[in-house]
Amino acid sequence: MPEIQVLSPHVADLIAAGEVVERPASVAKELVENAIDAGAGQVTVEIAHGGLTFLRVTDDGCGIPAGQLATAFLRHATSKLRTEYDLEAIGTLGFRGEALAAIAAVSRVEVLTRTADSPLGASLSLEGGVPGEVEEAGCPLGTTMVVRDLFYNTPARLKFMKKDAAEGAAVFAAVQREALSHPEVSVKFIRDGKQELLTPGDGQLQSAVYAVLGRELALGFRPVKGSGEDMAVSGFVSLPACCRGSRSWQFFFVNGRQVKSKLMTAALEQAYQNQKMVGKFPGCVLYLTTKLSAVDVNVHPAKTEVKFGSERAVFSAVYHAVLSALEGDRSHPRAEWKQEAIPAPPAQAEPQQTRIPLERPARPPLRTGHGPVVARVHDTAFPTRPAPPAPAPEVRQAPEPVQPPRPEPVREAPAPAEEPPPADWRVAGEVLNTYIIVEQGDTVLFIDKHAAHERMNFDRMKAAGYDPMAQTLLTPALCRLSAPEHQVLLDHQGLLEEFGFEVDELGADLAVRQAPFDVAVEDIPATLEEIAQKLLTTGSADPAAARDELLHTMACKAAIKGGWHTSPQELERVAQAVMSGQVKYCPHGRPVAIQLTKKELEKQFKRA
Ligand code: ADP
Ligand code: MG
Repeated sequence: MPEIQVLSPHVADLIAAGEVVERPASVAKELVENAIDAGAGQVTVEIAHGGLTFLRVTDDGCGIPAGQLATAFLRHATSKLRTEYDLEAIGTLGFRGEALAAIAAVSRVEVLTRTADSPLGASLSLEGGVPGEVEEAGCPLGTTMVVRDLFYNTPARLKFMKKDAAEGAAVFAAVQREALSHPEVSVKFIRDGKQELLTPGDGQLQSAVYAVLGRELALGFRPVKGSGEDMAVSGFVSLPACCRGSRSWQFFFVNGRQVKSKLMTAALEQAYQNQKMVGKFPGCVLYLTTKLSAVDVNVHPAKTEVKFGSERAVFSAVYHAVLSALEGDRSHPRAEWKQEAIPAPPAQAEPQQTRIPLERPARPPLRTGHGPVVARVHDTAFPTRPAPPAPAPEVRQAPEPVQPPRPEPVREAPAPAEEPPPADWRVAGEVLNTYIIVEQGDTVLFIDKHAAHERMNFDRMKAAGYDPMAQTLLTPALCRLSAPEHQVLLDHQGLLEEFGFEVDELGADLAVRQAPFDVAVEDIPATLEEIAQKLLTTGSADPAAARDELLHTMACKAAIKGGWHTSPQELERVAQAVMSGQVKYCPHGRPVAIQLTKKELEKQFKRA
């Protein structure tokens, strides 16, 4: 073993910097938090090349006195903490005095800053942490930090940076979280010269949420207000119907600090038990306010994890606040509060393009809407009485999923090849717009038309390839996805094109200019989110698996839907595929048919 030595301050600094400054997004986070701590009303973040070559944060906060400017860049230099006792009740976002030192150690920094009591400001440049001279400089009140060439002196770290677009997306996500954490601060984000975010800074949670997450998402949110022992919970949660394919839309804040909290996530999701679809996650922007001393924020290098004095109290406060928001929802008709919940913010608060109302294009023949079925109901003998909801059939023994009948054994009269044997089954009808009822001998089969058709599509697409009929959208459909989802789609543009999607970037959104006919226009954003999640989980390492995942999605989208009207011919075709044994399970592994025998029916009717 080589001799044990204390590392040189330079190497020690680089190691320490690694903990704080992982990527451009962490620089943006630290600098914006310094601006917020400095009491800024407006903060602007500008980046070029994903923040790797250029990242500038400008604020109108209190500024740094010229005499203290060089000190601010020393490790453990802070104005926010004095004694160990202060650690017990931290009210600022920063407190360790590490960020500026860490950032400066791995980049080229220029600062311009002026305090209110000084007519002239000061400037300072640092290279790899080595400061130049503090000079006088004319500048507005507040601080501007420019960080250039991040990791220029730590090639090992630089090597791990993703493409500019991915790093830029991560910076954007970090800025979004900061903007949500402090609705009283107006936050602007400019990427490569284009403004992608502006929050109004009017102190209203809803206008910050609206500006950051976009109108679509905000409309699916329901306000939350609640309190617990020494704490208050406020913000927004998504309606069970508006849950998303990932947790990327869960934002938690504790005393103005963005946090990742398994505890709060669990409390949130517990409140949705049995309400949301399996595999979907609620979105939220939830603020917990409590005594400073009830939270330990000094447990994580990036300060994004916290420890609560009473986990039980936090869980209970979040759980109950969310639950009552969701319950409040049930007592109101949907359309009404949807408009109230999030009033339109002032015009300047919406930097995004106004979303266009999406029109449904001419659909392929399979989907003909609900019309005919409704009409038939009204034609019956009891036209004035609305049909009562169908009671759940009291089946004591749940019908078993079955393997659909195998083709007849060959020994029984082999039919000539050119003339198929007459079917020994018939379609008796369809119920609930979802299940095809087939009678075969003494057995009644219920076929899930969507599941069966999805399987048929999948098999066909897998065998013959997916050759989508794509439509160019007159007005592109805009999708607001989480940064990783957004990026993974951009990274797979070629694959998406094979599947009929033409997607490019429009500010913070993805603009879908072309999509396959199989996907209803209003369903495009959810479909792309689903595809993005699949790509993120399969990873780009396995193109075949990724292609299969997309086939699954498209097979599902192209399938007739439960609840929709389907023509008798189409039902017949689906029944045929199932009864021939060609289709057994849907691509997700769910059965496509269940059966009830005459015996079982007789038992139910006590006839046996
Ligand atoms: P910390 O935020 O933990 O105190 P930093 O290294 O981030 O540590 O900053 C060091 C000090 O520099 C801060 O305590 C603060 O006094 C000062 N400072 C940094 N950024 C700003 C800013 N934008 N405006 C005013 N003061 C700042
Ligand atoms: Mg700081």
